[in-house]
Amino acid sequence: MIITKKSCVRCGYCCTQYFTAIVVIPELGPRKDNIRSINMLEERCPHLEGDRPGEYSCRIHHYEWFRDTPCGQYNSDGCGLGEYIISNSKKDD
Ligand code: SF4
Ligand code: SF4
Repeated sequence: MIITKKSCVRCGYCCTQYFTAIVVIPELGPRKDNIRSINMLEERCPHLEGDRPGEYSCRIHHYEWFRDTPCGQYNSDGCGLGEYIISNSKKDD
């Protein structure tokens, strides 16, 4: 299978399997005392909604500063990994 760069299809993989930095209180934005690291393998991101590949979403995605966060940078170009994960999760349904 060829995995090409496409927009996010909400598979949830990078929000449930990665280690990254997140903004804690969205209203305060990305300032030093409002950022923490999170290992999604050990805890769920507090901004994540949904429970099924293809149905995940991020509660803070609409903030203007989001595109400059690690999550925003990762999502900005999209990815083909999600398509692969979703097509495989459908086989399990
Ligand atoms: S902040 Fe949003 S994009 Fe980043 S891990 Fe949490 S739910 Fe996913
Ligand atoms: S499709 Fe890609 S960017 Fe979107 S949640 Fe899945 S792994 Fe992350």
